[in-house]
Parts: sequence; structure tokens; C-alpha cells
Amino acid sequence: MTQNSTHNNHSPSTVHRRIVALAGGVGGAKLAQGLAQILAPEELTVIVNTGDDFEHLGLYICPDLDTVCYTLAGLANPETGWGRANESWNTIANVESLGGPAWFRLGDQDIATHLERTRRLREGQSLSQITKDFCSAWGIQHTVLPMSDAPVRTMVDTDEGELAFQEYFVHRRCEPKVKGFRFDGVEGAEPVVGAKEALEQADAIVICPSNPWVSVDPILQIIKTINKPVVAVSPIIGGKTVKGPAAKMFDELGIEPSALAVAKHYRNILTGFVLDKTDSLMEDDVKNLNVQTLVTDTLMNHLTDRTRLAKDVLHFIGSL
Ligand code: GDP
Repeated sequence: MTQNSTHNNHSPSTVHRRIVALAGGVGGAKLAQGLAQILAPEELTVIVNTGDDFEHLGLYICPDLDTVCYTLAGLANPETGWGRANESWNTIANVESLGGPAWFRLGDQDIATHLERTRRLREGQSLSQITKDFCSAWGIQHTVLPMSDAPVRTMVDTDEGELAFQEYFVHRRCEPKVKGFRFDGVEGAEPVVGAKEALEQADAIVICPSNPWVSVDPILQIIKTINKPVVAVSPIIGGKTVKGPAAKMFDELGIEPSALAVAKHYRNILTGFVLDKTDSLMEDDVKNLNVQTLVTDTLMNHLTDRTRLAKDVLHFIGSL
């Protein structure tokens, strides 16, 4: 379902209506899609991590941005959560047969996105302008912003040395043990045009259930100060991630992975925290951090789960 047919019949009556959501890829995109079902276009801005961006096969690839956009547009692959639905893989198969690098899987339709983005970036256009135009072409009405137009590159310090993020994440399948993270270029990077205004006008900031270390921290470092209520949804359920290495990262950094660990990670900026029912025994520990809590189902397999969680989060924000 695309969002065009929605965001008019789920509206809770007592919600704060202007939301900025901070998102990485798959987990972030799911909640962003739920919020987009409820909120009108002018009520939701999604700021997306670009620390995972990289150049590969001469193409400029923005994995998180594309995951969020494909999801909001109803174009995402429902099985993987990333990439396009009904995808074909001819180009990458032919690259491989020529001996080229095929470890980063790029579908044919997806390659068109990277080709056109790369062409426009080389002409000197900004990532935010290109993203705006792509959103419009894909029928996305809500605002999706890359966190910055300046390149910021997540570098992973591991027991095998420092690795660029996609080298660690995709090529090495998160096998090296993590020792820390560095966001190359973050010091000089500014939020894109529109992000500051959206943050100023927001009633609340929602940190989507994205990887705290590599999806959310880069965005927080770019936007620097937040003086609005912040609500985070835990990406860790029952001590495990739904997908991806967030729990493994906590573990390797010497922190027991849990919803509580996520709440502690964000404790300096949190007003409210959303935990899964599985983790209800941790609610008091989170409250002891001086953070208000909501315990609900946070697994978002289907659009109905995403919309219901978004509705719960908005009601929670209204109650803070
Ligand atoms: P990535 O950049 O594609 O890895 O995406 P994100 O950083 O946005 O998302 C990764 C995080 O999303 C992981 O820590 C997952 O546990 C979390 N996640 C994925 N799906 C869900 C879900 O349905 N519910 C919750 N609570 N977390 C999820």
C-alpha cells in the first residue's frame, strides 16, 4: 500500500502532531511508515542516517535513505525490508561474471536510483535536493531528509583494525569484533536545509528502533542539540535484535544487550522510552533513569503492526 491512500483515518484525537523521526534503515523505515499512515505530510519529517553511504562500482549508494524512501513509497522488498520489490539481478550477475565485486547486492531497479543520484551529484546538485525530487517521483508526500549534504562516513574500529562501515557490515558480515565507532567528517557537517526548522517546529522527536551505535548516533551528532521531548523505541527485544548487529555490538563493547542498555545509551536526551512487552520486567529500571515508559508490542512485521505502534507512540507522546 502506498501512503497516498492513507494518513486520514487513524488519527488519534489527543496527539502532538508535529513529529521529527530519526531513522536508520530497516527498523527506522518500518516505524516511519507507521507514522506516515497517521500523520499528514506536513506533520512528519524523517531525518535519515547517511553514515552508511559509500561509493561502489562508481555509484553513490545511500542504503538507509533508499530503504526509508522505498518503504514509504510502498516499493520495498517485503522479505528483506531493503531493496526493491520484484527485483531482478542481471547487472550484478554480469558484473560478477566479468570478475567485478558482487559482495554488495544491487538489484537492477535499485541501480537506476544510484545511477541517477550519482549523475546529479556529479553535476553539483545536493543530496537533499536529489532526495526531494526522488521522493516526489515516487509519490512520497512526507518529508524525508538526509542528515547532512556533507559526506559523513561511519568507521568501525575492530579487532582487525578500522573498517569502513559497508566493508564491516556487508563484506565481512559483521564478523570482526567491534571496539568503537568514528564518524568521519561529522565535525564539519551541518544538518540539511529544513532539518533545523523541522526540529524547531516539532512537538517531539521520535528515535525509531534503529541501531543506536551506527544509525542513530551519527544523526544525533549532526543535529547536536535537541530541546524537544525525545521518545525512543527499543530496537532490542528480549536481549536480541530483530535484525542486524546492534545486540552483538553492545555485547562486544562490554554492555549486556537489552532494552535497558538502549535506554541508558540515550539517557541524556530521553523523555520517554518504549519497550516491548517481552521486556516489561525492565520497565522499573528504565523509570529509575528518570525516563517515562510505555510497554507495548514493538515487533513490526506488517503494516498494521507499524501503524498500531506509531499510534501507541503518538498517544504516549501526548501523555508526557
Ligand atoms: P539498518 O541500517 O538497515 O540496519 O537499519 P536500522 O538501524 O534502522 O535498524 C536496525 C535495527 O532495527 C535492529 O537493531 C533491529 O533490531 C531493529 N528492528 C528491525 N525491525 C524491528 C521491529 O519490527 N521492531 C523493533 N522494535 N525493532 C526492529
